[in-house]
Amino acid sequence: MTPPVFRFAPSPNGYLHLGHALSALLNADLARESAGRLLLRIEDIDRTRCKPQFEQAIYDDLAWLGIDWERPVRRQSEHFHAYRDALARLKARGLVYASFESRGEIAQMLTERGDTWPRDPDGTPIYPGGRDSMRDAERRARMEAGEPYALRLDMAAAVARAGDLVWREAGQGPGGETGELVAKPLAWGDVILARKEMPTSYHLSVVVDDALQGVTHVVRGQDLFWSTSVHRLLQALLGLPAPVYRHHRLILDADGRKLSKSTQATALRALRAGGAPPLDIRRMVGLPEP
Ligand code: GLU
Repeated sequence: MTPPVFRFAPSPNGYLHLGHALSALLNADLARESAGRLLLRIEDIDRTRCKPQFEQAIYDDLAWLGIDWERPVRRQSEHFHAYRDALARLKARGLVYASFESRGEIAQMLTERGDTWPRDPDGTPIYPGGRDSMRDAERRARMEAGEPYALRLDMAAAVARAGDLVWREAGQGPGGETGELVAKPLAWGDVILARKEMPTSYHLSVVVDDALQGVTHVVRGQDLFWSTSVHRLLQALLGLPAPVYRHHRLILDADGRKLSKSTQATALRALRAGGAPPLDIRRMVGLPEP
Protein backbone atom coordinates (compact mmCIF):
# COMPACT_ATOMS: atom_id res chain seq x y z
CA MET A 1 0.00 0.00 0.00
CA THR A 2 1.29 3.48 -0.77
CA PRO A 3 1.86 5.56 2.36
CA PRO A 4 -0.46 8.48 3.15
CA VAL A 5 0.90 11.90 2.17
CA PHE A 6 0.46 14.93 4.44
CA ARG A 7 1.53 18.50 3.86
CA PHE A 8 2.02 21.70 5.80
CA ALA A 9 1.55 24.68 3.48
CA PRO A 10 2.38 28.04 5.09
CA SER A 11 2.67 31.38 3.32
CA PRO A 12 5.93 33.24 4.02
CA ASN A 13 4.24 36.60 4.61
CA GLY A 14 4.98 36.76 8.33
CA TYR A 15 6.36 34.67 11.19
CA LEU A 16 4.70 31.39 12.18
CA HIS A 17 2.58 31.54 15.33
CA LEU A 18 1.02 28.99 17.68
CA GLY A 19 -1.80 28.26 15.20
CA HIS A 20 0.77 27.23 12.60
CA ALA A 21 2.55 25.15 15.23
CA LEU A 22 -0.65 23.18 15.90
CA SER A 23 -1.12 22.56 12.15
CA ALA A 24 2.49 21.57 11.54
CA LEU A 25 2.73 19.34 14.64
CA LEU A 26 -0.58 17.61 13.87
CA ASN A 27 0.53 16.91 10.30
CA ALA A 28 3.86 15.57 11.59
CA ASP A 29 2.18 13.41 14.29
CA LEU A 30 -0.35 11.94 11.86
CA ALA A 31 2.34 11.23 9.27
CA ARG A 32 4.49 9.49 11.87
CA GLU A 33 1.61 7.45 13.33
CA SER A 34 0.55 6.24 9.89
CA ALA A 35 4.07 5.67 8.50
CA GLY A 36 3.20 8.41 6.03
CA ARG A 37 5.16 11.18 4.32
CA LEU A 38 5.26 14.83 5.36
CA LEU A 39 5.71 17.49 2.69
CA LEU A 40 6.31 21.19 3.19
CA ARG A 41 4.94 23.59 0.60
CA ILE A 42 5.76 27.27 0.53
CA GLU A 43 2.66 29.15 -0.68
CA ASP A 44 4.33 32.26 -2.03
CA ILE A 45 2.25 33.25 -5.06
CA ASP A 46 1.85 36.78 -3.70
CA ARG A 47 5.26 38.13 -4.59
CA THR A 48 4.65 41.48 -2.92
CA ARG A 49 3.78 40.12 0.54
CA CYS A 50 6.07 37.07 0.68
CA LYS A 51 9.66 37.63 1.80
CA PRO A 52 12.76 35.37 1.83
CA GLN A 53 13.41 36.07 5.52
CA PHE A 54 9.96 34.70 6.40
CA GLU A 55 10.62 31.58 4.34
CA GLN A 56 13.92 31.04 6.17
CA ALA A 57 12.13 31.57 9.49
CA ILE A 58 9.63 28.81 8.54
CA TYR A 59 12.50 26.33 8.12
CA ASP A 60 14.15 27.46 11.37
CA ASP A 61 10.93 27.36 13.42
CA LEU A 62 9.84 23.95 12.11
CA ALA A 63 13.30 22.45 12.70
CA TRP A 64 13.26 23.89 16.24
CA LEU A 65 9.89 22.20 16.82
CA GLY A 66 11.54 18.92 15.85
CA ILE A 67 9.63 18.50 12.60
CA ASP A 68 11.26 16.78 9.65
CA TRP A 69 9.91 17.22 6.14
CA GLU A 70 10.86 15.85 2.75
CA ARG A 71 13.12 17.77 0.42
CA PRO A 72 12.94 19.42 -2.02
CA VAL A 73 10.32 21.81 -0.76
CA ARG A 74 7.76 22.89 -3.35
CA ARG A 75 7.72 26.65 -3.77
CA GLN A 76 4.57 27.77 -5.58
CA SER A 77 6.29 30.75 -7.20
CA GLU A 78 8.37 28.26 -9.22
CA HIS A 79 5.31 26.55 -10.69
CA PHE A 80 3.13 29.28 -12.19
CA HIS A 81 3.06 27.31 -15.46
CA ALA A 82 1.18 24.46 -13.73
CA TYR A 83 -1.51 26.85 -12.52
CA ARG A 84 -1.71 28.52 -15.94
CA ASP A 85 -2.34 25.11 -17.51
CA ALA A 86 -5.14 24.35 -15.07
CA LEU A 87 -6.69 27.76 -15.68
CA ALA A 88 -6.49 27.19 -19.43
CA ARG A 89 -8.43 23.95 -19.00
CA LEU A 90 -11.18 25.71 -17.08
CA LYS A 91 -11.24 28.46 -19.73
CA ALA A 92 -11.50 25.88 -22.49
CA ARG A 93 -14.58 24.51 -20.74
CA GLY A 94 -16.14 28.00 -20.88
CA LEU A 95 -16.16 28.44 -17.09
CA VAL A 96 -13.99 31.53 -16.70
CA TYR A 97 -14.70 35.19 -17.48
CA ALA A 98 -12.87 38.48 -16.96
CA SER A 99 -14.25 41.23 -14.72
CA PHE A 100 -12.98 44.80 -14.68
CA GLU A 101 -14.46 46.62 -11.69
CA SER A 102 -12.08 48.33 -9.27
CA ARG A 103 -12.48 47.76 -5.51
CA GLY A 104 -14.25 51.12 -5.32
CA GLU A 105 -16.69 50.20 -8.07
CA ILE A 106 -17.48 46.90 -6.36
CA ALA A 107 -18.07 48.76 -3.08
CA GLN A 108 -20.44 51.12 -4.90
CA MET A 109 -22.33 48.21 -6.49
CA LEU A 110 -22.65 46.60 -3.05
CA THR A 111 -24.09 49.80 -1.59
CA GLU A 112 -26.74 49.70 -4.29
CA ARG A 113 -27.51 46.02 -3.54
CA GLY A 114 -28.20 46.85 0.13
CA ASP A 115 -27.65 44.95 3.38
CA THR A 116 -29.42 41.80 2.34
CA TRP A 117 -26.85 41.01 -0.37
CA PRO A 118 -25.36 37.55 0.44
CA ARG A 119 -21.97 37.20 2.08
CA ASP A 120 -19.52 34.35 1.59
CA PRO A 121 -18.59 32.02 4.49
CA ASP A 122 -15.75 34.40 5.43
CA GLY A 123 -18.24 37.26 5.74
CA THR A 124 -17.29 39.15 2.58
CA PRO A 125 -20.16 40.13 0.26
CA ILE A 126 -20.08 37.92 -2.82
CA TYR A 127 -19.20 39.49 -6.17
CA PRO A 128 -22.20 41.60 -7.17
CA GLY A 129 -21.48 41.47 -10.91
CA GLY A 130 -21.93 38.52 -13.19
CA ARG A 131 -21.09 37.11 -16.54
CA ASP A 132 -24.27 38.34 -18.21
CA SER A 133 -23.47 42.01 -17.65
CA MET A 134 -21.14 42.23 -20.67
CA ARG A 135 -20.62 40.39 -23.92
CA ASP A 136 -17.56 38.13 -24.16
CA ALA A 137 -16.27 40.10 -27.16
CA GLU A 138 -16.19 43.29 -25.11
CA ARG A 139 -14.40 41.50 -22.27
CA ARG A 140 -11.77 40.29 -24.72
CA ALA A 141 -11.32 43.77 -26.21
CA ARG A 142 -10.83 45.34 -22.79
CA MET A 143 -8.25 42.71 -21.83
CA GLU A 144 -6.40 43.25 -25.09
CA ALA A 145 -6.45 47.01 -24.45
CA GLY A 146 -4.40 46.31 -21.30
CA GLU A 147 -7.03 47.08 -18.64
CA PRO A 148 -6.57 45.45 -15.24
CA TYR A 149 -8.85 42.45 -14.78
CA ALA A 150 -9.72 39.52 -12.54
CA LEU A 151 -10.52 36.11 -14.01
CA ARG A 152 -13.53 34.65 -12.22
CA LEU A 153 -15.09 31.24 -12.10
CA ASP A 154 -18.64 31.29 -13.44
CA MET A 155 -19.88 29.55 -10.32
CA ALA A 156 -23.41 28.72 -11.47
CA ALA A 157 -22.11 27.18 -14.70
CA ALA A 158 -19.33 25.33 -12.87
CA VAL A 159 -21.73 23.84 -10.32
CA ALA A 160 -24.15 22.85 -13.08
CA ARG A 161 -21.27 21.09 -14.85
CA ALA A 162 -19.84 19.32 -11.81
CA GLY A 163 -23.10 18.27 -10.15
CA ASP A 164 -23.42 17.44 -6.46
CA LEU A 165 -20.15 16.97 -4.61
CA VAL A 166 -19.17 15.70 -1.19
CA TRP A 167 -15.96 15.53 0.79
CA ARG A 168 -14.77 13.33 3.61
CA GLU A 169 -14.14 15.30 6.76
CA ALA A 170 -12.05 13.42 9.30
CA GLY A 171 -11.86 16.44 11.60
CA GLN A 172 -14.58 18.98 12.23
CA GLY A 173 -16.01 22.17 10.84
CA PRO A 174 -16.70 25.20 13.03
CA GLY A 175 -20.23 23.92 13.66
CA GLY A 176 -19.10 20.35 14.42
CA GLU A 177 -19.64 19.15 10.83
CA THR A 178 -17.92 15.83 10.24
CA GLY A 179 -18.09 12.67 8.12
CA GLU A 180 -19.30 12.86 4.53
CA LEU A 181 -20.18 16.50 3.87
CA VAL A 182 -21.95 18.19 0.98
CA ALA A 183 -19.87 20.89 -0.75
CA LYS A 184 -21.63 24.27 -1.08
CA PRO A 185 -19.50 26.23 -3.51
CA LEU A 186 -22.37 28.51 -4.63
CA ALA A 187 -22.03 30.26 -1.27
CA TRP A 188 -18.75 31.78 -2.50
CA GLY A 189 -20.11 33.40 -5.67
CA ASP A 190 -17.87 33.94 -8.70
CA VAL A 191 -14.48 33.52 -6.98
CA ILE A 192 -11.31 34.99 -8.48
CA LEU A 193 -8.98 32.38 -10.02
CA ALA A 194 -6.31 34.75 -11.32
CA ARG A 195 -5.63 38.42 -12.02
CA LYS A 196 -3.88 40.29 -14.76
CA GLU A 197 -0.69 40.53 -12.68
CA MET A 198 -1.07 37.18 -10.87
CA PRO A 199 -1.65 34.01 -12.93
CA THR A 200 -3.27 32.08 -10.07
CA SER A 201 -5.03 32.33 -6.72
CA TYR A 202 -4.97 30.47 -3.41
CA HIS A 203 -7.88 28.21 -4.44
CA LEU A 204 -6.45 27.24 -7.81
CA SER A 205 -2.86 26.63 -6.75
CA VAL A 206 -3.74 24.67 -3.61
CA VAL A 207 -5.89 22.25 -5.61
CA VAL A 208 -3.34 21.81 -8.38
CA ASP A 209 -0.48 21.26 -5.94
CA ASP A 210 -2.29 18.86 -3.64
CA ALA A 211 -2.96 16.70 -6.71
CA LEU A 212 0.51 17.08 -8.27
CA GLN A 213 2.16 16.20 -4.97
CA GLY A 214 -0.12 13.21 -4.38
CA VAL A 215 -1.43 14.62 -1.09
CA THR A 216 -3.91 12.18 0.44
CA HIS A 217 -4.68 14.03 3.71
CA VAL A 218 -5.16 17.78 4.03
CA VAL A 219 -4.81 18.78 7.69
CA ARG A 220 -5.37 22.51 8.27
CA GLY A 221 -7.21 25.04 10.40
CA GLN A 222 -10.98 25.44 10.53
CA ASP A 223 -10.68 28.90 8.98
CA LEU A 224 -10.29 27.06 5.65
CA PHE A 225 -13.14 24.63 6.26
CA TRP A 226 -15.66 26.17 3.87
CA SER A 227 -13.00 26.83 1.22
CA THR A 228 -13.03 23.07 0.83
CA SER A 229 -16.29 23.47 -1.11
CA VAL A 230 -14.45 25.47 -3.77
CA HIS A 231 -11.54 23.05 -3.70
CA ARG A 232 -13.81 20.05 -4.27
CA LEU A 233 -15.46 21.84 -7.18
CA LEU A 234 -12.14 22.68 -8.84
CA GLN A 235 -10.93 19.12 -8.31
CA ALA A 236 -14.06 17.78 -10.00
CA LEU A 237 -13.78 20.20 -12.93
CA LEU A 238 -10.08 19.45 -13.42
CA GLY A 239 -10.44 15.69 -12.95
CA LEU A 240 -8.21 15.63 -9.85
CA PRO A 241 -8.52 13.21 -6.92
CA ALA A 242 -10.05 14.42 -3.65
CA PRO A 243 -7.92 14.05 -0.52
CA VAL A 244 -9.41 13.39 2.91
CA TYR A 245 -9.76 16.63 4.87
CA ARG A 246 -9.14 17.09 8.56
CA HIS A 247 -9.82 20.60 9.81
CA HIS A 248 -8.60 21.35 13.31
CA ARG A 249 -9.61 23.87 15.97
CA LEU A 250 -8.01 27.30 15.84
CA ILE A 251 -5.80 28.74 18.54
CA LEU A 252 -7.41 31.94 19.79
CA ASP A 253 -5.88 34.92 21.57
CA ALA A 254 -6.98 36.17 24.99
CA ASP A 255 -9.84 38.11 23.33
CA GLY A 256 -11.11 35.00 21.51
CA ARG A 257 -9.80 36.13 18.12
CA LYS A 258 -7.91 34.02 15.61
CA LEU A 259 -4.15 34.57 15.88
CA SER A 260 -2.63 36.86 13.33
CA LYS A 261 0.87 36.96 11.88
CA SER A 262 1.14 40.55 13.05
CA THR A 263 0.83 39.64 16.77
CA GLN A 264 4.37 39.21 18.01
CA ALA A 265 3.57 37.60 21.38
CA THR A 266 2.44 34.31 19.87
CA ALA A 267 5.13 34.13 17.18
CA LEU A 268 7.17 30.95 17.57
CA ARG A 269 10.43 32.83 17.25
CA ALA A 270 9.41 35.19 20.07
CA LEU A 271 8.50 32.25 22.31
CA ARG A 272 11.80 30.59 21.45
CA ALA A 273 13.75 33.80 22.16
CA GLY A 274 11.91 33.99 25.50
CA GLY A 275 13.39 30.61 26.44
CA ALA A 276 10.39 28.31 25.86
CA PRO A 277 11.49 24.76 25.03
CA PRO A 278 9.79 23.11 22.01
CA LEU A 279 7.83 20.75 24.26
CA ASP A 280 6.16 23.77 25.85
CA ILE A 281 4.75 24.65 22.44
CA ARG A 282 3.02 21.28 22.24
CA ARG A 283 1.51 21.92 25.64
CA MET A 284 0.47 25.47 24.69
CA VAL A 285 -1.43 24.21 21.62
CA GLY A 286 -3.01 21.35 23.59
CA LEU A 287 -1.14 18.41 22.06
CA PRO A 288 0.03 15.47 24.17
CA GLU A 289 3.72 14.70 24.48
CA PRO A 290 4.89 12.59 21.56
N1 GLU B 1 -1.25 28.79 2.72
C1 GLU B 1 -2.43 28.72 3.55
C2 GLU B 1 -2.20 29.51 4.82
O1 GLU B 1 -1.06 29.77 5.18
C3 GLU B 1 -2.81 27.31 3.93
C4 GLU B 1 -3.29 26.53 2.76
C5 GLU B 1 -3.90 25.17 3.08
O2 GLU B 1 -3.50 24.52 4.06
O3 GLU B 1 -4.73 24.74 2.30
O4 GLU B 1 -3.16 29.86 5.46
